[in-house]
Amino acid sequence: MATIEHWIGGQYRSGSSNRRGPVYNPATGEQQHEVVLGSIADVDDAVAAAKTAFEEWSQASLSRRTKVMFAFRELVNARTKELAEIISDEHGKVISDAAGEVQRGLEVVEFACGIPQLLKGDYSDQASTGVDVFSFREPLGVCAGITPFNFPAMVPMWMHPVAIACGNTFVLKPSERDPSASNYVAGLWREAGLPDGVFNVVHGDKEAVDALLAHPDVAAVSFVGSTPIARYIHDMASKTGKRVQALGGAKNHAIVLPDADLDFAAGHLTAAAFGSAGERCMAISAAVAVGSAGDALMDLVSRKASDVVVGPGRDPRSEMGPVVTAAAKQRIESLIGTGEQQGAKVLVDGRGLRVPGHENGFWVGPTVIDQVQPAMDVYTEEIFGPVLSVVRADDVDSAINLINSNPYGNGTAIFTSSGEAARTFQRGVHVGMIGINVPIPVPMAYYSFGGWKDSLFGDRHIHGPEGVSFYTRAKVVTSRWPHVTSPADASLHFPTAS
Ligand code: NAD
Repeated sequence: MATIEHWIGGQYRSGSSNRRGPVYNPATGEQQHEVVLGSIADVDDAVAAAKTAFEEWSQASLSRRTKVMFAFRELVNARTKELAEIISDEHGKVISDAAGEVQRGLEVVEFACGIPQLLKGDYSDQASTGVDVFSFREPLGVCAGITPFNFPAMVPMWMHPVAIACGNTFVLKPSERDPSASNYVAGLWREAGLPDGVFNVVHGDKEAVDALLAHPDVAAVSFVGSTPIARYIHDMASKTGKRVQALGGAKNHAIVLPDADLDFAAGHLTAAAFGSAGERCMAISAAVAVGSAGDALMDLVSRKASDVVVGPGRDPRSEMGPVVTAAAKQRIESLIGTGEQQGAKVLVDGRGLRVPGHENGFWVGPTVIDQVQPAMDVYTEEIFGPVLSVVRADDVDSAINLINSNPYGNGTAIFTSSGEAARTFQRGVHVGMIGINVPIPVPMAYYSFGGWKDSLFGDRHIHGPEGVSFYTRAKVVTSRWPHVTSPADASLHFPTAS
């Protein structure tokens, strides 16, 4: 069984810890690798390598950095298939979905290729007589990324291409459930000409995370994961004086109004709820059926959910793969059971699904639960599996109130043919990313990604312009080049323009 090692200073390292974690193939239920779980000493090594590399990389010209970014872009593009297979084997998602994840990550790399334009400062000529003022942005130093299992390539790519293009060095602590994609990406960075030590990977769990949070040489932390851990990361990193952005969990609602094209809405709801087995932070996990839309919508969604082909990610016929671990399967199935006990109606039940030839895989089929009330566990919990909970609402205002009462505010969508209703919705919801007849409104890379409320702690969204701002700090220079024969005009008064 292969051991997945750290990538530090351009080399694989087994590290100083004897602790190892299992990496499963969720479609077979078998352990396929083990991953080293980093210690404080391993984190020290990675941060030291990144700190040393920063001395040179932070001084690399924009031209040189851009060349590396373009080379990296070409490599990620060319190796999408290999990367997608690695993702699928450890996460479980189907290959086409894994390739889609790589594509969305690639878009961030493409955004970062424009770094010379993005880092242009301001210049005010003759702000005062003989005095010019200009600003520019400098990298922070060693930046850390701590990422979740559900997008093992894309979510780290929300971070490291932007951080590195800005002149920082990076230590990635990926999820211990599907760690191989990060090592593969490290190899691509090296092939692209990135100097050793600029991009490092430390595998591990809480011990490695805590070491990064406490390390005095880590300047900034980007986190994506569940809300309780996001809150913890934000608190700890803030206490140690680091810049921090911590993106948390979600409960994304889609409102369906009676004037919507219900077949279109049902198709998109089904895809958004069950794609990647619902293990997407932007998955639609709660549908709000308004007024007379309810019964017809439930018929259509139930039919489409029952038609989803569930199977191994490597099988091109599969539309949805397994969930990530046996524990996730158990938790999801238990929550469906609780929903039933609390009075909701399970219209399509994915519990106990068997996939022939893969009996030990971590399968949960698409599940549709109707008549859900806001106090039920299936509504209050982020299930993070292929479960669509449906709440009925009388009108668009009560649907918006429901969304605004929810502690999360990541993404939301409305299906309607009314521009007026859509505009009321887009202005009224307390949510960061909004779709109008678009169920998963993940912003393009040249916008920034981020939720509100318990879905993001910190004041900057990730990637896009806010990413550049997060990974740099501003300098403003006020300069004067007095002629050698100018009379000295220094005064003790507070300086004002003249
Ligand atoms: P998780 O919070 O369990 O793990 C995320 C990272 O934190 C991993 O690297 C993990 O090793 C580390 N970690 C876990 N427990 C820790 C602890 N006690 N102390 C320190 N570090 C710890 O999340 P997950 O299960 O890997 O991913 C799913 C979650 O991520 C869902 O809640 C999902 O909504 C969220 N997510 C959010 C976004 C977003 O953009 N808002 C995107 C993707 C995933």
